[in-house]
Amino acid sequence: MQVAALALQERLNADGSDWQGPRLPCGCGNTARYAGRRHKTVLTALGPVALRRAYYHCSRCQTGFFPRDRALGLADASLSPAVTRMIGTAAARVSFVEATALLDELAALRVDPKRVERAAEALGREIAADERQHIEPLPPPAPTMYLGLDGTGVPVRQTELAGRVGKQPDGSAKTREVKLVTVWTAESVDKRTGRPQRDPGSVSYSAAIESAASLDTDPEPAPFAQRTRREAERRGFPQATRCVVLGDGAPWIWRQSAEMFPGAIQILDLFHVKQHLSEVAKAVHGPGTDRAASWADARHDELEAGRIDDLLAALNEHNDSCEPARKCAEYIDTNRARMRYPYFRAEGLCVGSGVVEAGCKVTVGTRLKRAGMHWTVDGANAILALRCCVLSNHFEDFWERRSTASRQQSQ
Ligand SMILES: [Zn+2]
Repeated sequence: MQVAALALQERLNADGSDWQGPRLPCGCGNTARYAGRRHKTVLTALGPVALRRAYYHCSRCQTGFFPRDRALGLADASLSPAVTRMIGTAAARVSFVEATALLDELAALRVDPKRVERAAEALGREIAADERQHIEPLPPPAPTMYLGLDGTGVPVRQTELAGRVGKQPDGSAKTREVKLVTVWTAESVDKRTGRPQRDPGSVSYSAAIESAASLDTDPEPAPFAQRTRREAERRGFPQATRCVVLGDGAPWIWRQSAEMFPGAIQILDLFHVKQHLSEVAKAVHGPGTDRAASWADARHDELEAGRIDDLLAALNEHNDSCEPARKCAEYIDTNRARMRYPYFRAEGLCVGSGVVEAGCKVTVGTRLKRAGMHWTVDGANAILALRCCVLSNHFEDFWERRSTASRQQSQ
């Protein structure tokens, strides 16, 4: 690889065609003058390459450019596009330190973790901007489409928490909430249970630390509402014959869903409700006890059988003594219509396959909630954009657009 890198270096430096005369037009409208050749070491997939490139400087706007950098898609970077892509692929999946080790092991590339972080976050910001601009609505891939909304906390730096109220005992916060929208189809059937299950490869994700709250007087929907709409349109969700929205009990989810998709079937994710009931079981009968387990099982059965009144009666027995039980009863009563599980199942609908719950783990937990991680909001959002793009299989399309844009810029 070193030999190949050297050959590439010699070949590029022997080619003087990036000198395109004494003057070239500058973006500002003035002309830029040739100002000699400048050195730069670029990290390519073959290793470091020292380039001498023609430099043009504009005296009016006091900036300069390198035609060769534009032609090679280097812009202001000292990493080749192939290396940038490798960094993005690795850092989307593992920590910056692990990505450094992977790049060395698999591609013999020496890039320190700080540089991996900077390059991955810069790429993530590009992807985030591309995601906002590029919406190519597709027809729905199946008659029934599912859209899940969820949120999960991510540990952030102290400076990102100023003035925020959190869940810590003293009222302070340690995390910021990532909101996630997931879209998928479930036309295939689980052989064991006969119930619909998520179609492999049908899931797409979009997530960010951003607000879902807006006032009636706001001229535009909240940022997360706009994200949800973009992802829904991209996947053809609103055009599906049956639109299903799944979520936990958070009020913002149902407010947003009712506003955006008024005709959608709303289902409270069964997994989340069961989790709630298990928490109550622990609070009533003590964690890890047999009584807690059998109490939870009985409530889960009532829930799945649609016996909501029995379920509420069982919860109400502990109303006075147990705050979690009282709250859970309230939660179930409020969401009754979203918990008609026997009816939903008879209609052949997914009632909570764990896709929503797994979505938070897959997109956020396994990458952003690791020991010792403290994010800036900007950094977390960049890596979320990168990771969602990779996991949703949009990375190839993004790269195609990026290469095309860079080619057009160099012409
Ligand atoms: Zn200029």
